Amino acid sequence: MTFGARAVIRLGALKHNLKVIRERAPGTRVMAVIKANAYGHGMLEVAKTLADADSLAVARISEARVLREADIDSPIVILEGVFTGEELDMAIDAGFEIVVHCIEQFELLEQLESGRLTVWLKVDTGMNRLGFRVSDAEALIDRARECRAIGKLRLMSHLANANDRQDDKTADQLSLFQSIADGFDGDVSIANSPGLFGWPDSIPKPSGDIWIRPGISLYGISPFDETSGADLGLRPVMQLESRLISVKTINAGDPVGYGGTWEAEQDSIIGVVAAGYGDGYSRFLPSGTPVLVNNRRVPLAGGVSMDMIAVDLGPGASDKVGDPVLLWGDGLPVEEIARYAGTIPYQLVCGVLNREPSMVVD
Ligand SMILES: *Cc1c(COP(=O)(O)O)cnc(C)c1O
Repeated sequence: MTFGARAVIRLGALKHNLKVIRERAPGTRVMAVIKANAYGHGMLEVAKTLADADSLAVARISEARVLREADIDSPIVILEGVFTGEELDMAIDAGFEIVVHCIEQFELLEQLESGRLTVWLKVDTGMNRLGFRVSDAEALIDRARECRAIGKLRLMSHLANANDRQDDKTADQLSLFQSIADGFDGDVSIANSPGLFGWPDSIPKPSGDIWIRPGISLYGISPFDETSGADLGLRPVMQLESRLISVKTINAGDPVGYGGTWEAEQDSIIGVVAAGYGDGYSRFLPSGTPVLVNNRRVPLAGGVSMDMIAVDLGPGASDKVGDPVLLWGDGLPVEEIARYAGTIPYQLVCGVLNREPSMVVD
């Protein structure tokens, strides 16, 4: 038993979510996105648990190398690609698949005499972040066919607004991508979690395979503002847990915490929980944010400090030091907590600092 905030990672929920995702997009291949330490869930354990995903995706080569060094032998895609000859050699040696999104990366490949690399050519269908212009795609595909370093050539793009199901931009991006995919002989990929759950019939139909790229949904979290993961049949993988380390009575009018930003409206009992921004519990969470103490919702009272928060347990509460606290997880969706912090659940789970080592369970 630890008296500090700790992420409990439920691998059974992760497997369940992969199954739900596969059922959502039958016939597609799954590139499981595990960048940023698997969205804070622990990259290696998550990679091992997702061994039957068709591939794994990370942002950077440093992440891909950690996976290979741990003997993860799944295909690994580097979403931001490589930037130097040295990184390119490393990618070839390790058999990484690389995204090529800019001309500098393309020219680096063209300097090689051989390579047999699997390359994902990224086109920008409207996000205006990474990728080549749609109008250049055809010429680049022809040029890539001549490039001796490239074994398999594949096409990808990324959706900018799919988290909002009312936004027309996604349909525009999908049809633009479809127009390039139509004439392309190879695998293609555009759908992230919101694309997959929001536009299931709009995944392009090429002559090769279609790959989906779920990230947040694997972890049981909804990509949409208005729905929770549970609404989509997903189970939260992370439980951020802690314990009460102090219980004391206060009088009406007493301020709590730094700056006294919260004052008791009545005589009450304050519980102090060993969780703070030093654990990744956001300091942007205001008084009133729900916390589960002994499975009961109680409000955060006062500001979040580095190691602690205070909650108003209410008059007559019988909670004791050592009792369990849930900051988010089953029964308290991180989607809901993110709304209180004015952020997205992606940021909260990525921000868990694992000051106490996370605990992995089935
Ligand atoms: C992070 C990422 C994803 C996963 O997105 P989710 O919204 O978490 O499903 C997919 N594709 C690319 C290119 C990404 O960077």
